[in-house]
Amino acid sequence: MTCSQRGPLPELRRATLTGTAVALCIALMLVPDTAGIHAKSTTEDAPAAIPVHAEIFVRGPAEASDVAIWRNPRDPSRSVILGANADAGLEMYALDGRRLGGSTSIEPQHVTLVHGYPLRGQSIDLVLADDRRTSGIVAFQLEPGGTGLSVATARPISTNAEITGLCAYRSPLSGRHYVFAATDEGHLQQWELYENDGKVDGALVRTIPIGFGAGYCAVDETDGTLYITEETVGIWKLAGEPESDAERTLVDLTGPRGRLAEEVKGIALYRVDATQGYLLAADVGSNRLNVYSLQDSAYLGSVSVQTIGSASALEEAEGLAALSVSLGKSLPAGAVLFADEKGSGAGPGYKLLAWEAIADALRLQRAQPSANNSGRPSALATVMPTVETDPVDDYGDAADDPAIWVHPTDPAKSLIIGTQKKRGLYVYDLSGKTLQVIPDGRMNNVDLRYGFELQGERVAIVAASNRTRKSLALYKVDPVTRQLVDVADGTIPTGFRDPYGLCMYHSARSGEFHVFMNDSDSGAYKQWRLVAKGDRVAAEQVREFVVGSQAEGCAADDETGALYIAEEDVGLWRYEAEPTAGTQRIRIDSTRGGNLKADVEGVAIYYGPNGTGYLVVSNQGADNYAVYRREGQNAFVGHFAIVANPRLGIDGASETDGLDVTSTPLGPAFPHGLLVVQDGRNISPAARQNFKLVPWEQVASALSLGAPR
Ligand code: CA
Ligand code: CA
Ligand code: CA
Ligand code: CA
Ligand code: CA
Ligand code: CA
Repeated sequence: MTCSQRGPLPELRRATLTGTAVALCIALMLVPDTAGIHAKSTTEDAPAAIPVHAEIFVRGPAEASDVAIWRNPRDPSRSVILGANADAGLEMYALDGRRLGGSTSIEPQHVTLVHGYPLRGQSIDLVLADDRRTSGIVAFQLEPGGTGLSVATARPISTNAEITGLCAYRSPLSGRHYVFAATDEGHLQQWELYENDGKVDGALVRTIPIGFGAGYCAVDETDGTLYITEETVGIWKLAGEPESDAERTLVDLTGPRGRLAEEVKGIALYRVDATQGYLLAADVGSNRLNVYSLQDSAYLGSVSVQTIGSASALEEAEGLAALSVSLGKSLPAGAVLFADEKGSGAGPGYKLLAWEAIADALRLQRAQPSANNSGRPSALATVMPTVETDPVDDYGDAADDPAIWVHPTDPAKSLIIGTQKKRGLYVYDLSGKTLQVIPDGRMNNVDLRYGFELQGERVAIVAASNRTRKSLALYKVDPVTRQLVDVADGTIPTGFRDPYGLCMYHSARSGEFHVFMNDSDSGAYKQWRLVAKGDRVAAEQVREFVVGSQAEGCAADDETGALYIAEEDVGLWRYEAEPTAGTQRIRIDSTRGGNLKADVEGVAIYYGPNGTGYLVVSNQGADNYAVYRREGQNAFVGHFAIVANPRLGIDGASETDGLDVTSTPLGPAFPHGLLVVQDGRNISPAARQNFKLVPWEQVASALSLGAPR
């Protein structure tokens, strides 16, 4: 096949449409001087016409439904256009329209690129495309130099519905790779890509209801925003992180209320630098490309596409791709590429526009080469849960605060006790199975201590804040049945309007057992001493103080006598836990200029040897966790996030309220201790809330904490 003619005449182009099966070629119209297009004003009625830089035709009845551009890092002028063509397969073209090859093993309607995917110890580029016959996603490894494609999935990643859009996303937070697949059932599926036996595999992490007609999408890897078009409705944006809220906002509408004529399909992003960039949307049927600011979604103007010798250049723009890096001398600021379903007389195909021309017409910025070469933002340290508990029995924000009980003789039989603030306390084993539900009221926080003497026996006492009875709930753990038994001396009143945060303290100095609890919004704390009364446990108030504003998470250090309190909007404080201590406190960290983002929630202590160890704090506003040294001035160590474990099908944790940690080995599953956190969004599949269990060695390794004890 030959295709390098530069003749602008339609006749000539048609004359070349012989040759192999699908495809074909081209007319490359070298745009002599893009600066000549000068920005006529771009009123909505008369968008500036941008001449195509190159056209690639596909012979009918083939379709050109989506497109992507791979930039050849060694020689950008030898970059590769990837076209999805359900009848012809996945096609590869050079920038001048020459067909380079492709794959006929699938019938793709959508295509997207993944850069720098780690596979078999190498960093490779992947082409992802759907196969309409299997409703699956197939990954191809792009050979170095863009010379060919080889299948990288062992089997298609099955979406079980027709795919109406596909876009890849590498999380700037975790470095994880995802692909979003919209389906004809009106859902947006988010798949995490992971290596499975040397091949690319996918784990479904969440499904977002998005509406019928939704499909074409693009994700901004700088800020994690996902853009998706809903054909006759408009353009939406929402957060691309799997654990984020699925709330979406409109960017623009079709019809009289918006700036899109009737229908919108392909979208693409053009990044200028870390702070500036553009959202590009193909206004189908009106031969128009709309441009919006990425910062505030403001509409900046539109351009139309002009083919020499052809009245309406863009018949039906479907897929859209953009590259904000140089593609060689003739495309120094990158390019925009349309998949034109109908094409201009010569049939469907792909149209390439120089960004220079669009930028000139609309007075837009060109990408800064340095911004694109500066590499990716450093990713956050991440760990993965290996167990998740059963979901709780109530919908909404229900699970809240866990406490770990260590079995005295068989650590693998240890328990997780979790509050469920709509019902009571839940007891789970280390596999996450629910062993006991105690429907004693709206329990908010829970903590426990070992070795309380009750009728000549040393028992573990569990304390919880009961918002229904406005009381202090007390239980002991029966190590034989592994169940909680109520031991409170009746209903122990707190005097609080709304009992909220709670933690316990076993004083090394006095041997006494204490409970701290606070009222929800005032930050008023009370401290009680626990006293045995026959076979029951009573509480005597020993201290009262005020933190200042709403607080909840707290933890007392039994060895040092420190009491850590998280004031949700403000930061982390260190008080003294002894009842004789005053109100003096030390600020450990802050939400203003510190390492925390409101709300600051759960706090727990990892006890190491000789007074060392760590504080683990739920940094809820950032969906991650902050770690501090237990000793000295509680120096900040680092942040980590809990991300999905795709192999085990367990989602990550986000919007965490309470957490607990132990340094005691808990059998083969948790040989170096355990971190348990509440998960605000239990997804994949969507379910009621639960708790996630993370082996401590993952945290130690993610933050280079040194060998676990
Ligand atoms: Ca919550
Ligand atoms: Ca707790
Ligand atoms: Ca809270
Ligand atoms: Ca909160
Ligand atoms: Ca989750
Ligand atoms: Ca889950």
